[in-house]
Amino acid sequence: MARRKSTSDPTIIALANQKGGVAKTTTVASLGAAFAEQGRRVLLVDLDPQACLTFSLGVDPDTVEKSIHDVLTGGTDLGDVVIGCDEDLDLVPSTIDLAGAEALLLVRPGREYVLRSALEAGAAAYDVVLLDCSPSLGVLTLNALTAADGLIIPMPCEMLSHRGVGQLLDTVADVQRILNPDLEVWGILPTLYDGRSNHSREVLADVGERYDLPVLMPPIPKTVRFAEAPAVGRSVLSTASSSKGARAYREIATLLLDRL
Ligand code: ADP
Ligand code: MG
Repeated sequence: MARRKSTSDPTIIALANQKGGVAKTTTVASLGAAFAEQGRRVLLVDLDPQACLTFSLGVDPDTVEKSIHDVLTGGTDLGDVVIGCDEDLDLVPSTIDLAGAEALLLVRPGREYVLRSALEAGAAAYDVVLLDCSPSLGVLTLNALTAADGLIIPMPCEMLSHRGVGQLLDTVADVQRILNPDLEVWGILPTLYDGRSNHSREVLADVGERYDLPVLMPPIPKTVRFAEAPAVGRSVLSTASSSKGARAYREIATLLLDRL
């Protein structure tokens, strides 16, 4: 999974799945906190107009003056919008303004490369950049896939959660062909896993073969701990540090760091 032009460049990881509610945002916050715990300098980028990541890190999107929207459509430097959050995480926040960015970018040549350029210019100080995609395959997600070294696809171990993954992988193939030949699919991250449910276990056993992709293990267990964390602006790694969910994200972070 190595491509770095320079070893000092950050590794950029996109979390994408055009289905909502699959734990993209939760994974960005939790993995980010796990990387930071392990001493990495981490930047999280909220690419969803719903700004759930921004909110879950304790930042009220309504009070944000400059956001990813200004970076993508107004040429604002990335560094000018970064907000330092708890758990040693830096955030590029989103606001509802971002909902208009798709339309503004559509008429721009090179529209898929805007985020990549902004990160090249403004993210050199970080080891890892995590991109939290919106639930769509529009221009914003294309920007994420164009900027990324690796893609992780969170997938809940629940009924019908597979639908749409084929379409995402078709988009990835297009991006690899046209926009970013270096993009690698690092694997599926099984989320919302309930070890007591036969169905959860079946999904976990089948999903890698079905899509011919690595499955990042262990699966992230389904626990109420995850619902509590965003309300206090911290990830589950600090609100329930020794919980099964926090431990699973730490293991995934270690696995990824070993491979970088
Ligand atoms: P997405 O960004 O893909 O839309 P979120 O990360 O916002 O998904 O998660 C959707 C919902 O599921 C949120 O309410 C979140 O708290 C909850 N959730 C995420 N991961 C887990 C988990 N492992 N166990 C229980 N609930 C979870
Ligand atoms: Mg989300």
